[in-house]
Amino acid sequence: MSIPFVKLHYTGKEWDYIQQATSLCGDGFFTRQCHTWIENYTGCLKALLTHSCTAALEMSALLIDIQPGDEIIMPSYTFVSTANAFVLRGGVPVFVDIRPDTLNMDETLLEAAITPKTKAIVPVHYAGVACEMDTILDIAKRYNLFVIEDAAQGVMASYKGRILGTIGHLGAYSFHETKNIISGEGGALLINDGQFCELAEIIREKGTDRSHFFRGQVDKYTWQHVGSSFLPSELIAAFLYAQLEEAQSITKQRLKIWNHYHTNFAELEAEGLIRRPIIPDYCQHNAHMYYILLSDLDARSHIMALLKKRGIQSVFHYIPLHSSPAGKKYSRVSGNMNNTDNLSDCILRLPLYADMDISTMNKIIEVVKESLVVVA
Ligand SMILES: *Cc1c(COP(=O)(O)O)cnc(C)c1O
Repeated sequence: MSIPFVKLHYTGKEWDYIQQATSLCGDGFFTRQCHTWIENYTGCLKALLTHSCTAALEMSALLIDIQPGDEIIMPSYTFVSTANAFVLRGGVPVFVDIRPDTLNMDETLLEAAITPKTKAIVPVHYAGVACEMDTILDIAKRYNLFVIEDAAQGVMASYKGRILGTIGHLGAYSFHETKNIISGEGGALLINDGQFCELAEIIREKGTDRSHFFRGQVDKYTWQHVGSSFLPSELIAAFLYAQLEEAQSITKQRLKIWNHYHTNFAELEAEGLIRRPIIPDYCQHNAHMYYILLSDLDARSHIMALLKKRGIQSVFHYIPLHSSPAGKKYSRVSGNMNNTDNLSDCILRLPLYADMDISTMNKIIEVVKESLVVVA
């Protein structure tokens, strides 16, 4: 029997809701339900569904009016969209190294990366574990910078009681099927600064005031601003709403699996064979992923091969953006990237999905233990 890296979790209501959808295009009943759910649960000022987190990040770049040459500080250890969304507007990603404990942006390196061209900081909440937001917000305030949270992995997680995506000026969620709460493709922009509410609606609707038109605030709609089509179909929103309704129980289920891994790997960590994820005590994470850190690339390759032989799919990421072809062309680094380079060689992600049963978990744990004893 083989064990996949992810298995989709359905709440059971997705198909009913899709059948109940009364339109195919966006911004119907289910889109509004999702907006209300996100606004109520997170406390953000305004939520707007998008067709992806990538789209929400692209909207953010438009909202803060990124101009060619503007610099945006972010980690190199992230998914391409974090950087690409700003490069599309001519922005220049400036990479800082990550912290060895959470693998998040090292906030102590931010000030050294700031130049007169810096416009924003983009913290990425890796694995649903929050970045050090108090420090980041303080620096942003002192230098008059925007903070855009890439909370693609951070849905249902929080920092000192504040829900991720609601802490910066803007936040971006992903509902891609590889994330915790899913709609296949999907995302949301969370707006926490009132100056962006109206413009965000315009940018999302092809640069027109169509949303105002539908609310009867204007009698025809026209081209108002540079924009694009960032909204999802109602079918996606219907599917997503079924997931949001169960978001708390899905998160609880995932945390149970995460904790089972964590407890069972304590011994390997004590023996110095692996390092387990570190969660600061003021962060409530969402069990987006379970990873272990091996001693080096060879150890990781060895254990991955063994897992594969036993039918267990494991994965690693990221190729750091600063060493990718496009990263070299469009971005620059600030300081060294030692942690980014080292940790991206050592990380191994294990299967984690809401419906994983205990015997599957135990089999994975057993094979990991076995392979490490062989390496040692
Ligand atoms: C998944 C992910 C994205 C992109 O999400 P999409 O919804 O697929 O566009 C962006 N940033 C991070 C950190 C991610 O993990």
